[in-house]
Amino acid sequence: MTHNHPAHPAHPGHPARASASGRPASGPQATAAARRKCLVVDDEPGIRNLLYGALGALQVDLAGFSSVQEVLAGWRPEHPDIIFLDIALDRSDAIDVIRALAARKFRGGVQLISGRGDVLLDQVKRVGEQHGLDMLPPLPKPFRVREVQAVVQGYFEQKRRERDAAALTDGRRDLQQALGTSLDRILANGWLQFHYQPKLHLQRKCIVGAEVLARCRHPELGVIPPGVFLPDADAQSLGRLTTLALTAALTDWGAFVDAGFPLTLAVNITIDDLLKLPIHTVVRELRPADQRWPGLILEVTEKQAVRDIARAQEIAAQLRIHGITLALDDCGPGYSHLARLKELPFSEVKLDRTMVAGCGDGGDVAKACRATIALAHRLGATVVAEGIERREELQALTAMGCDVGQGYLFAPPMRQDKLIALLQELAQAFALA
Ligand code: C2E
Ligand code: CA
Ligand code: CA
Repeated sequence: MTHNHPAHPAHPGHPARASASGRPASGPQATAAARRKCLVVDDEPGIRNLLYGALGALQVDLAGFSSVQEVLAGWRPEHPDIIFLDIALDRSDAIDVIRALAARKFRGGVQLISGRGDVLLDQVKRVGEQHGLDMLPPLPKPFRVREVQAVVQGYFEQKRRERDAAALTDGRRDLQQALGTSLDRILANGWLQFHYQPKLHLQRKCIVGAEVLARCRHPELGVIPPGVFLPDADAQSLGRLTTLALTAALTDWGAFVDAGFPLTLAVNITIDDLLKLPIHTVVRELRPADQRWPGLILEVTEKQAVRDIARAQEIAAQLRIHGITLALDDCGPGYSHLARLKELPFSEVKLDRTMVAGCGDGGDVAKACRATIALAHRLGATVVAEGIERREELQALTAMGCDVGQGYLFAPPMRQDKLIALLQELAQAFALA
């Protein structure tokens, strides 16, 4: 084993104790479990020093080795998070190390570093993948401190997201099992209800619509959001939910208009239900007779592919006759939604919270926001930003020409009677102003 940073003398037999941050890993603030660990296997002292400096700044421990023999001699039961691996080593090479890591069932990331050209790096990466290792995109030498730090931070961020997603899935299943809150049980028990979240016209400064959002009203646990019961719902229950949401939007509209607010309501729907359910029949039967009924919006998510575009277009045209238009929901910072916009006649485009949160800094997300707004407007669609939480987001979106906003900054989803009370309060405040 070789430790080559002046501040880190070798600890024979204890490679993981050498701390690149200059603090011993066993110090009071740094328990061994809490600190992250990396290894570097490279026979160039200069590279090991560069990595010590880069990782030290991130509070990551680093142990250095120059050959596979040293790695094996210093291997500890607790595996490191990332191994930086040079291709040609003293008395050995990266393939030897890859075989040794696979034999030890190493589950961390392997970051190849080499100045031997991209082709060789890619070949070695493929060998690692064939051995079942998590091979990160190779880093050609020479590299900068910032590049190493970006690799490490990106890796830890990705692992954190994977852990969060797994915990969320486990938590959701536990909760569902404990409560019996699968969608079919919720429907059978009559626990389903709908909340309304207002949509505010950013230029006219008035509430123009509301999104209908499903909730489970559990007798003991209170209100449970759809993230708990929708992801595992079967197609049949989802279809029943859609029909109930449509029915609510058509029948509840009467109470809004009676209070003086003929809002345009929007219902979430899957592409499958759009193609399958007799929506126009439900609407023909239940649509309000009132002249002020502005029609209904159906929000379909950008993430679901439309397999039968011709049929979807036919249905969209038929729905339009009955006053129903489509919104493209969940448009994120990628550009895939721009292609989706041309598939169906969308009257509205909804910018996802991920877009809204990044719209204020002039970076790539802001550019994607601007491009989406411009294209939507060219196609005659209204743009709605959802998940607006901060005033800066509102200002940036208004400056970009976004038409409508929705989010906790204005109001969360709420029961219909609460929303009507809020609308009346706002109307009174305006009248007094
Ligand atoms: P969605 O259609 O994107 O709805 C917007 C979600 O953002 C709602 O979550 C809303 O409560 C939440 N939200 C609103 N303002 C903010 C904000 O300022 N910040 C943040 N972080 N979130 C905000 P919710 O009600 O939990 O619904 C989650 C998803 O469940 C919906 O996402 C929609 O995809 C689905 N969903 C809800 N109701 C129905 C339904 O009746 N049918 C179908 N098919 N899907 C539904
Ligand atoms: Ca939606
Ligand atoms: Ca959405």
